[in-house]
Amino acid sequence: MFKIITFRANTNRRQDFGENPRDNKWLKNQLINLKNRYFPDLEIANNLIIKFGRPAKTRLGSIKHGRRRENPNTIITINGHFQDREIPDFVIDATILHELTHYSQGWFSPHPRQHHYPHQGRAVKNELTDRGLSDILMLSRKWLKRNWREYIKQNHGY
Ligand SMILES: [Zn+2]
Repeated sequence: MFKIITFRANTNRRQDFGENPRDNKWLKNQLINLKNRYFPDLEIANNLIIKFGRPAKTRLGSIKHGRRRENPNTIITINGHFQDREIPDFVIDATILHELTHYSQGWFSPHPRQHHYPHQGRAVKNELTDRGLSDILMLSRKWLKRNWREYIKQNHGY
C-alpha cells in the first residue's frame, strides 16, 4: 500500500520564521488536500514524499526519485523560503500543483510519460488549466512577479 508520507527533517537551516511556521506535516496536508480536490483520478502508485528544502532564490519546487532502484520513492522538494508565512498559501499550492502535475505525467513516478520533456507544449499549464486551476496559477505568478525579488533581497543569505 503506497501513500503520501511525511519527511522528518533532521536539520533546519532557517529558524526565524516566527510563530507557527509551516512544517513538513503542514506541507503533506496541503498536498493531500490538493490531490484529493483536483487530482481525484490520480493514483499515488509509490511512496510520495514532500518536504521543504533549502531556501533558494529561483527554484520554487522540484521533483526527483529517491535512491532506491527498485520501486523508488518520489520526493517533491519545496523552496525553504516558503516556510515563511509572508509567502501566501496560494504560491505554495501552485508550486505543489505544478510538481504534482509532473508526477501525474510520468516524471519521477510510476505513471507512463506523456511527453518527451516535462514542459513540452505547456504540458503543465494545460493540465492545470483543464483541471480548473488557471486562477491560482495566475495569482501565484502575479504575486511572485510583484514581490519575489524584494523578498529575496530582504531574506536570502541565511
Ligand atoms: Zn516543472
